[in-house]
Amino acid sequence: MVNWEYSESVESQEIVNIKDKYQNFINGKFQQPNSKKYINTISPSTEEVLSKIVISNEKDVDNAVQSAQLGFEKWSNTSPHERSKHLFKLARLIQERSREFAVLESMDGGKPIKESRDFDLPQVAANFFYFAGWADKIDLSWGAKSLKPHGVVGQIIPWNFPLLMLAWKVAPALSTGNTVVLKPAETTSLTALLFAELCEQAGLPDGVVNIITGDGTTGSLIVNHKDINKIAFTGSTQVGKLIQKSLAGRDVGLTLELGGKAANGSRLLLQESIHDEFVAKLEKRMQTLRVGNPLDKNTDIGAINSKEQLNKIEGLVNEGVSDGGKIFQTECELPGNGFWFKPTLFTDVQPSYSIAREEIFGPVLTTLTFRTPQEAVEIANNTEYGLSAGVWTEKGSKILWTADRLQAGVVWANTFNKFDPSSPFGGYKESGFGREGGRQGLLSYLKAES
Ligand code: NAP
Repeated sequence: MVNWEYSESVESQEIVNIKDKYQNFINGKFQQPNSKKYINTISPSTEEVLSKIVISNEKDVDNAVQSAQLGFEKWSNTSPHERSKHLFKLARLIQERSREFAVLESMDGGKPIKESRDFDLPQVAANFFYFAGWADKIDLSWGAKSLKPHGVVGQIIPWNFPLLMLAWKVAPALSTGNTVVLKPAETTSLTALLFAELCEQAGLPDGVVNIITGDGTTGSLIVNHKDINKIAFTGSTQVGKLIQKSLAGRDVGLTLELGGKAANGSRLLLQESIHDEFVAKLEKRMQTLRVGNPLDKNTDIGAINSKEQLNKIEGLVNEGVSDGGKIFQTECELPGNGFWFKPTLFTDVQPSYSIAREEIFGPVLTTLTFRTPQEAVEIANNTEYGLSAGVWTEKGSKILWTADRLQAGVVWANTFNKFDPSSPFGGYKESGFGREGGRQGLLSYLKAES
């Protein structure tokens, strides 16, 4: 008899060599921290301790900033052609070691290997290739010598695309002659630390890339350091506002890439006439989603990044139910350890419910209905966010009509979450300002010669 039972296809962890403990990467070397404080970094799918990372204090931040200042003296005077060569080298090394990075990203962050391997890592390499190509063309494109780098850039990134957010930040900053002090999120620091090893391997001059780990306090120490020339932040709207307040009145450049609602594909607006048929098909498809081990190549939904994030999801979902939303959850079995949430769909939702308004970082979709295209646009724009949106229709003219009216930084047509380094990304309203990617992304790392 043929056995039709599912058998896992798990990516091997052997390719990854995780150290027991990581130091900060400052001035081209891993260095003992002044703080001497370490925390465990765990796998959210097993709760197993993977390693220990530093919680950097004021002195550690200061060391990193000083290193970046020294690095800037050399790097900003390095010929654009040489800078380009370094970035190409990093891009090629990322490609060579992409499986290692993908496995580590899935172990540390919980996202399915098919996402980290087939989306995140190719995008990371593509960003380095793209910005490597720009380094020696900036003068030609914007008028010779009229623009200069900011200097030392503090970069603070979140947990949802750890290495990709690093690439979005580091590649354009280096291409334009800046040096960086980067802090990854405390739950997903390991791929940034592996990237530091890559900088050593690529022979990047000392001080050009400095990576220090820590929590929100470390982030705010970077923001408030007196010698920082620009801050590039990706994260929540709440923290973005705090950063903007801290920098008020200071001559420090700022780009904020903040929260979104539709960007996660978490709010679906359906034409009322197709609602029932659509929801029936969607529920059927959701039942086939495979939830579990992020390293299994067939997994569709991995672990939730942290216990704290899981609590937030549970809180919002409970609120959705008590507000009156109708909930559907798949019948999948969840693993015993780790942080998990069943694929969830809400129908009968009003636009005022928090489940329809607040960002929810989990496998939870909310549906709302509309009768006319005008109403769809009104509901879509009735949010404080404006990061991205998608339109599905059989008519090209409807796509153009709707995209013209949506207040979102990116509008995808008959697809979703497609990225390209040449295409600028960023928000409207409380989703932030500044663009990353493309020529606009480069410009935010340059300022007019004074
Ligand atoms: P978060 O809490 O704002 O954290 C983001 C980063 O800021 C982390 O490194 C965090 O450190 C640090 N941080 C926390 N408090 C800080 C403070 N007071 N000063 C300076 N830094 C501080 O956001 P998250 O929940 O990790 O990330 C998810 C958010 O990112 C979502 O809102 C999502 O929409 C947004 N996002 C936006 C884009 C975009 O392109 N617009 C792209 C991806 C994600 P710790 O983690 O160590 O606490």
